[in-house]
Amino acid sequence: MNTPDAKLTDSAAVSTARQTPRWQLELSQAIRSGSELLSRLQLTSDQFPALLPDTAVADFPVLVPHSFLNRMQPGNPRDPLLLQVLPQSPEITSAPGFTADAVGDLHARRSPGLLHKYHGRVLLLAAGACAVHCRYCFRRQYPYAEEPRRLEDWEPAMAEIEADSDIREVILSGGDPLVLNDSRLAQLCHRIARIPHIDRLRIHTRLPIVLPSRVTPELLSLLTSLPKQILMVVHANHAAEIRDDCLAALQQVVRAGLPILNQAVLLQNINDSADAQEQLSLSLVNAGVLPYYLHQLDRVDGTQHFEVSETVGQQILSALQARLPGYAVPRYVREIPGATGKTPLLRAWS
Ligand SMILES: *Cc1c(COP(=O)(O)O)cnc(C)c1O
Ligand code: SF4
Repeated sequence: MNTPDAKLTDSAAVSTARQTPRWQLELSQAIRSGSELLSRLQLTSDQFPALLPDTAVADFPVLVPHSFLNRMQPGNPRDPLLLQVLPQSPEITSAPGFTADAVGDLHARRSPGLLHKYHGRVLLLAAGACAVHCRYCFRRQYPYAEEPRRLEDWEPAMAEIEADSDIREVILSGGDPLVLNDSRLAQLCHRIARIPHIDRLRIHTRLPIVLPSRVTPELLSLLTSLPKQILMVVHANHAAEIRDDCLAALQQVVRAGLPILNQAVLLQNINDSADAQEQLSLSLVNAGVLPYYLHQLDRVDGTQHFEVSETVGQQILSALQARLPGYAVPRYVREIPGATGKTPLLRAWS
């Protein structure tokens, strides 16, 4: 957890402690050390010659909720969930072609917390924190500390959106917007929903995947009570993530009537095969979640060991098209700075 929202008096602390949602407790209890993560899985550091010590990743430490850990296979050093969150030495090595701002975010910043790259939609960096630290993250280098925290800090961004009636959709992203507590999230959503030309509010979040207890009846009633169309876009990379409490949480979102899509990143040794992608797509659609994007890795410093070539990606997508219903095939895309949208990588040759 980052910062408690309010300073509490003793008597208030008692009632607030009772009300602290379970997901916030689980987040505060998340694993924050690589060696602890390995020992929980009955693995040893000898099995990971490239493992980075916690001190080498202090600016982006290990962060893994127990729910996500519980979906890893003990004793398996190649577990696809573990490999997403375990820091290894290429992270602190530079590689040609990899930079700090590979997707041009800083260039697209319109006001504090507001990125405007594509026609008709803007992205709000609604929170700087996440419930998990994905080692391949494309925003791991983003200077979140400079972005708004309190509702009034958002007013320049709101003024920018209000002044441009071509903007029809606001995407809450981050970090992860669902690390905001319900009251902060409600304030922000209601503030955006007041803007007349905004038709849709989209929530980009990994919490239903890594910390499924965040999907509470209170959250769902907040989202379903907003006067605009809501869409949720989650982020899972492997079928083994879509199980147990995560599966139940996704089904609750579906039953609440919210459209829910998934974006994944193509990751070396994690999901870089047609079989892994097929299983991911099937797990998602069976849960009521449609595959949206499969992203080519953004070439951010320290992520080179996750990169898969576009040729391999195209072969995987061709195989998926031959095996799956059309709605179960994600669009394979990459982000090119200055482009008018994500750029498709699959030519129509298959
Ligand atoms: C990816 C992205 C979007 C969303 O693009 P869609 O194709 O609508 O999903 C919007 N804004 C920014 C800055 C983005 O990077
Ligand atoms: S949840 Fe998303 S923003 Fe957060 S670390 Fe993972 S990829 Fe990055």
